[in-house]
Amino acid sequence: VTFADLGISPWLIDTLQALAIYKPTDVQKGVIPQILKGHDCIGGAKTGSGKTAAFALPILESWSKDPSGIYAVVLTPTRELAIQIDEQFAALGSNMNLKHTLIVGGMDMVAQAIALSRRPHVVVATPGRLADLIRSNGPETTAGLQKVKFLVMDEADRLLSSTFADDLGDCFSNLPPSENRQTLLFTATITDAIRQLKEKPTKGNKPPLW
Ligand code: AMP
Repeated sequence: VTFADLGISPWLIDTLQALAIYKPTDVQKGVIPQILKGHDCIGGAKTGSGKTAAFALPILESWSKDPSGIYAVVLTPTRELAIQIDEQFAALGSNMNLKHTLIVGGMDMVAQAIALSRRPHVVVATPGRLADLIRSNGPETTAGLQKVKFLVMDEADRLLSSTFADDLGDCFSNLPPSENRQTLLFTATITDAIRQLKEKPTKGNKPPLW
């Protein structure tokens, strides 16, 4: 199986080759075709499995055909993970002038608010800082979030723990409802909170993939 078989376009395959990535990993083979068909997905995958590219590639593939507004929001529990994900989007999107922004604690919040108001294509965030930005800024900064096509929840088991509940609530209330976006969940373990999320309506009533 090649990336082309999975539905990835030549421009993105060229980028992958420049990064010395030639063959899809198991999680990439499993989820990329499903995501490109418009399905939600729940991928059981650990760091090191190629899970970041498993969501970044179909997001970029679909974005390249309709590059408008904030296209995707990726939530992840830690600043370090967010930095790594943002770097992978930077590398994979470099051929296409992808605009991406990192929204994490410990960095200038005003600069992040300005970056968000410019509606980058991809926002990679930790829930705490994104919620802070939402609480302390008006719609001119955050309105772009309401039309995202993709929400990725990386390390979803950790994101859905009580630690993040309030912040996630504020993030979710500024994102489109689950039936108006594709939700891509990646987790090492299936917890009760993830089972509950699976029951939510999905875009086009397509069932999520486990
Ligand atoms: P991740 O599991 O997303 O943390 O990715 C781990 C590392 O694997 C990253 O450095 C990726 O650039 C790399 N990677 C992703 N997909 C592939 C692939 N299909 N073949 C080889 N390396 C990959």
